[in-house]
Amino acid sequence: MLSCKEFVEQLAKIIDNEELTLGQKLNNKLHLFFCHHCKTYLKQAKITVAVAKKLDCEPPTSTQIEQSIAEMKGFSVSQE
Ligand SMILES: [Zn+2]
Repeated sequence: MLSCKEFVEQLAKIIDNEELTLGQKLNNKLHLFFCHHCKTYLKQAKITVAVAKKLDCEPPTSTQIEQSIAEMKGFSVSQE
């Protein structure tokens, strides 16, 4: 099964309905079946894109989403 990290790396393609292989689609569905967190994350990302479209703003491109994901990977929460 995909890790959450691997799932999130494909998020832009999932949202943009880009071509994914049958194996990738099955792995994504399987991950979403077991992972409540990624299911919520995907839902929120889709809502964000839908709201951006209604606001007559340009939705983020795949490149912008991938850049944001790369920035988030460097983010850590301090637990002091
Ligand atoms: Zn997950």
